[in-house]
Parts: sequence; C-alpha cells; structure tokens
Amino acid sequence: MIPSDLPASIFRKEVLALSAYKVADAAGMIKLDAMENPYGWPLDIQSSWLDTLKDCPLNRYPDPEGRQLVRALRELEAIPEQFEVLLGNGSDEIIQMLLMALPPTASVLAPAPGFVMYKQLSDSLGLRYHAVPLLAEGFGLDLPAMLAVIAGHQPSVIFIAYPNNPTGNLFSGEAIDDIIKTANGLVVIDEAYAPFANASFMGRLAEYDNLLVMRTVSKLGLAGLRLGYLVGKPEWIGELNKIRLPYNINSLTQITADFALRHKALFDFQTQRICAEREALLAGLNAMDGLVAYPSAANFILFRTKPGQADAIFTSLKAQGVLIKNLNPQGGLLADCLRVTVGTPEENAAFLQAMGNSLILSQC
Ligand code: PMP
Repeated sequence: MIPSDLPASIFRKEVLALSAYKVADAAGMIKLDAMENPYGWPLDIQSSWLDTLKDCPLNRYPDPEGRQLVRALRELEAIPEQFEVLLGNGSDEIIQMLLMALPPTASVLAPAPGFVMYKQLSDSLGLRYHAVPLLAEGFGLDLPAMLAVIAGHQPSVIFIAYPNNPTGNLFSGEAIDDIIKTANGLVVIDEAYAPFANASFMGRLAEYDNLLVMRTVSKLGLAGLRLGYLVGKPEWIGELNKIRLPYNINSLTQITADFALRHKALFDFQTQRICAEREALLAGLNAMDGLVAYPSAANFILFRTKPGQADAIFTSLKAQGVLIKNLNPQGGLLADCLRVTVGTPEENAAFLQAMGNSLILSQC
C-alpha cells in the first residue's frame, strides 16, 4: 500500500485539490447529455470511408503536422491563407496547450457560466482564474465587469465561447469587439458550436493581433475522432506548436477527418435537421407547465424548472432511460437548470414524453 500522504509530497497542491472530470455512464440510455450529433452515416459513405482506412500504415507514426488534414480544413472551413492552424486532440487539448504556455503568475478570464475546462485546466496549472458572471437576464456579457477585470488583472488569455456553453446564446459581437480591443492578452473565440449558429469571428482574424479562433469537429458529428483546431497569426501558432506533442493527432483521425470534411453536404444536411429539431424541442419544453427554455444558437437547450425541482426531474428522466445534464449542482445562474442536447426526432419525442411524466411526478 502506498502511504496516503505520499502523493501529496510528490504532486502539486493544485492537482491534489482537483476533482476528476466525470462523465456519466450512458449505457443503454437515450444519450442527450454531451452535445453529440445523433446521426450516423449512410451505408455507402461508411463503406467508402472503410476503403480509405484500408491503406493506413498503422506501423508508422502519423504525419506530425497533419498536412493533408490542414489543407482540407483550410479549403473547406474558409481559413484565410495568412493564418496558421494548430491541431489539437480535441479543442480541450488546445485549451491546455494555450494555458501551459503561460507564465505561472498569469491570469485567465472567462464569463460564467461557461465551458468547465477553462477553469479546470487553469486550476490544474495553478493559474489565477477570473470568472465574471453573465447577466441574469438573457445571459449576455456583463461588459463593464469584464472590462474592469481586464483593467485590474491584465489576463493573459480570455476565453469566450460563441455560442456559449451551457447557456446556448451568442454574445453581442460589439461587446466582444470591445473586449478584444481593450485586452492586452489573447482573446480566444471558442466556436465549438459554430455549425449551428451562422456566426463566426474567423473572417475577423485580420482585424486584431490578439484574436484566435478555436473550432472542433466534435459537435458537427465527429466527437469520437478528438480533433480541434486553433487559427491565428503565425507568431502565436508557431510558439504553441513548440509545446504540442509531435504525434497528437493519430493517423486514423487524420484520414477520417479529411474524408469526412469532403462530405460536407452530409454534415450540412444533419446540421439543418438538428437546427429544425432544436426549435421544435424549444417549443415543446416551453409548452410545459412551469418550465422556461432559453433560445439557443447551438445544438442543445438550457431550461429552468420550478425552484427545487431540477434534481428530481433529472433523476426521474434517468430512471426512464433518458440522460441529460443536471446543472443545478453548479448553482448561481444555473440553479434549477438542466441542459438537453438535440437528438433525433424520436429521441426528442421520448425525452419530452419522459419530461411530461417527470413533471406530473414532481407535482404529486
Ligand atoms: N468548447 C466548448 C464551448 C465546449 O462546449 C466543448 C465540449 N463540450 C469544447 C470546447 C471541447 O470540445 P472537444 O474537446 O470535443 O473539441
């Protein structure tokens, strides 16, 4: 047995203070908790994908720069020529690389509630993390409060998810412009949900020296590949590339993402279906007694229950075989809130039916 105080004498105190990121077990459940695309691929596309994998030399290391994949991303995602692309094992890894490059005294800023990994990774590295609450009404950015933290703490990196997770809204573009103009440090616009939003800062990169745009293929329908990318001026990407592990994007991911990106029409079609279903789901939730569902520009919907009911509704949904995300334990603006990912029409109908049952039960 390892003595219980030994890890504490070996590892940093920031690591010891962390809790591991928990992923709920979804075996056998209708899985609407993680913003995945619910659709697979038609058989003909599946079989031509398998054909492309046949010649993959698994005995060799992957291309350390993923050159073919970067070419495909540039072409299909309209990445302007003068900017560089950093590939990550999911955008999670890109967030980690950015933060690892900072001095230990640096601070990080993001609105709250926001994507949990910004704080989790900052904490793990012992960086100071400033979370500025969003406005309670409409979850907009509190611009004066953000500017005050920028003036007071000069954060080295500011993360802004656009649309935001878990609230689903797009922040005001003008407020983001003000933040980018005022910040001395980097502003990372995290466009994980861009496919569902019709809004992007990719075309604005040339306007600001301190702007970086981060994307992922996860929400689009390729969460299993683990591929994210960061786009920005070569001066930034060049430095970050020094701390990227040489083979961070495996061969199967490189080949598959390149293949998938060339089937853009399929993903566009799936995205349109998800956006149409999102509106039906929003209306379905808002028609239920005591629920408030918030408009979303992403592939999920945040909704609020009557005070004190969220935990019971979450548990009841789970018992009925539907897994969503319970945000109530996070408190603050998320008290009484749950988040559901948009699924197939059948999954959404099953969820709404289970919600109806849960609401009846919670009133008994
Ligand atoms: N950014 C945001 C806003 C997210 O919600 C997520 C995943 N939930 C990520 C980044 C990470 O995505 P991935 O690591 O799958 O690319």
